[in-house]
Amino acid sequence: MVNGSAMSDDLTAMCDLCLGEGAEGDGVLEVDTAAADSALRAWRAKAGADPHALFHLTSGARPVKWRVRHHSCGTGPRFAYTIAVERIRSWTAAVDWSIHLTDKTFLAATDWFDLLDRALHPRRAAVSGILPRIPRDLSGGPVGDT
Ligand SMILES: [Zn+2]
Repeated sequence: MVNGSAMSDDLTAMCDLCLGEGAEGDGVLEVDTAAADSALRAWRAKAGADPHALFHLTSGARPVKWRVRHHSCGTGPRFAYTIAVERIRSWTAAVDWSIHLTDKTFLAATDWFDLLDRALHPRRAAVSGILPRIPRDLSGGPVGDT
């Protein structure tokens, strides 16, 4: 179950096009699945049929970026997987989406985990994507702390 609005608003979506905040109902987090499929095909042609895990480690492999876009900031890719911004407003929802997305073949060719990593580690100074509403401890620390 992915339920955004009932959960606390600890995440906020920043538009990749205008860097403005996405409010309920006015935007999506999306990825171009046709681009991801073709990136995966190109990589498989080079690396062989083996799965997901090695994609990001292969030099020359370019993960397809998840982007936040206000509906009013342009049109999305023709083939896209989209998540309404109001449905990814909490860490719980982000984890829920991660679980939901694991069986999607295009996921491996996208920067989904990097998107979450940027949200978790604000010192990487991301200005768009999914970000914590209240930044976490800026000093960082081992994975899983705080
Ligand atoms: Zn925008």
